[in-house]
Amino acid sequence: MDLIDRLVSAVGAEHVLTGRDVVAGYEADWTGRLRGRALAVVRPGSRDEVAAALVACAGAGVPVVPQGGNTGLVGGGVPRGGEVVLSTVRLAALDAVDRTSGQVTAGAGVRLAALRAHARAAGLDFGVDLAARDSATVGGMAATNAGGLRVVRFGPMRAQVVGLEAVLADGRAVGSLAGLEKDSTGYDLAGALVGSEGTLAVVTAARLRLVPALPARATAVLGFGSTEAAVAAVPALRGPLLTAVEVCFDDGVALVCAHRGLAAPFRRPCPVYLLVEYAGEHDPTDQLGEAVAGIAGVLDSALATDEVSRRRLWAYREGHTEAVGALGVPLKLDVAVPPARAAAFEAAVRAAVAEVAPGARLVLFGHLAEGNFHVNVVGAGDEHALADAVLRAVAAEGGSISAEHGVGVAKAPWLHLTRSAAERDLYAGIKRAWDPGGVLNPGVLIPR
Ligand SMILES: Cc1cc2nc3c(=O)[nH]c(=O)nc-3n(C[C@H](O)[C@H](O)[C@H](O)COP(=O)(O)OP(=O)(O)OC[C@H]3O[C@@H](n4cnc5c(N)ncnc54)[C@H](O)[C@@H]3O)c2cc1C
Repeated sequence: MDLIDRLVSAVGAEHVLTGRDVVAGYEADWTGRLRGRALAVVRPGSRDEVAAALVACAGAGVPVVPQGGNTGLVGGGVPRGGEVVLSTVRLAALDAVDRTSGQVTAGAGVRLAALRAHARAAGLDFGVDLAARDSATVGGMAATNAGGLRVVRFGPMRAQVVGLEAVLADGRAVGSLAGLEKDSTGYDLAGALVGSEGTLAVVTAARLRLVPALPARATAVLGFGSTEAAVAAVPALRGPLLTAVEVCFDDGVALVCAHRGLAAPFRRPCPVYLLVEYAGEHDPTDQLGEAVAGIAGVLDSALATDEVSRRRLWAYREGHTEAVGALGVPLKLDVAVPPARAAAFEAAVRAAVAEVAPGARLVLFGHLAEGNFHVNVVGAGDEHALADAVLRAVAAEGGSISAEHGVGVAKAPWLHLTRSAAERDLYAGIKRAWDPGGVLNPGVLIPR
């Protein structure tokens, strides 16, 4: 029996896709920049079917690329050439919310929007939110340790995962969905899978912490004369109600306004903008107003409490990805530096782009409380040289080459900038221990 026949007997003929036109949607990433040919796409509907599909691929010596919502931005979820794509879309079971523990068990293929709606229906919420919420899956978010808009309040995916269930390349199932908040029985296997980008095992389900629903919100946009002034404002904003501190710059906001036909936030443009959100059980407008009043260097500000006005303010920040995409396919680099180094890093990035790609268009935005910048460059020319310059600037500031998107294939060549030789040896040893045959996502995270 050849591999396709084995996959068909594992999951059924309708869930093994080989036709070029049907497979094409699984072969390119969200930006269209990263793509490759898949041998086939297999869509198992249960943990046992995942195991059977993996055993078939391992037996045939064909590598497997796990894929969730395919919103990843570093090429870890799309084939490089000749792999089987294992899509988790059918692993979409969502158990009833366990109110006693404040947790829920979700299949790896459950979309973030569905998870949040499910939690909200039970009077709770899920702590991670990101703009790709309609497509990004629980498994993909765990595998990339996704962050997003509310990390300052609830932490990244790592902080939400209580347990994972996963299947090794040899078909054995590991992990627990019991939801034990206390368990000091040795190594944290679920912790090892968070951020593993499909290189160690295929996550089939997750036990997730839920957070209180925060029905009352207040949002402000603040204009500053410099990034230093915006960074200096962060301590005054911190507190139990703080839910978001997003940063963007005058050129990006002007681009969003032109793209979406929005009026500028203020009569006079400001070099730097912060979008700040407070959320709680009761209206946090007064607390946000007080925090803002205590900040020096605010050139202008707007405060919104009703949903329509809040959405209007968020549009200046959330419109960036779409507006940049309308200019062309950008080189996207998601990085983090210690927040206190954010202004120095911004200056270094602007200098690096001006030197390496003088004609390129740079648009920066990000999550300032975590020092997380999204560096978008349209018309970069020599993308490798530009990525090299930007990621070296990150390393020089003591930062991370990946804040929340993962390393994938796109950044694997630069892992050495922020992981020592001893740490890279450990990475390789962990990979060998979980996946000795090298079946799962070769070339992702750990350079070939
Ligand atoms: C418009 C837009 C906005 C975004 N905003 C954010 C943001 O604010 N914060 C953020 O963190 N990310 C953001 N992202 C990136 C992306 O949404 C996240 O990386 C997300 O976690 C990917 O989930 P996915 O289901 O699409 O995974 P995929 O793209 O399908 O896969 C991502 C990686 O996870 C692996 N993987 C997927 N499923 C499994 C599984 N079940 N088991 C093992 N490995 C698996 C894949 O092999 C791959 O390496 C954004 C993306 C877009 C397009």
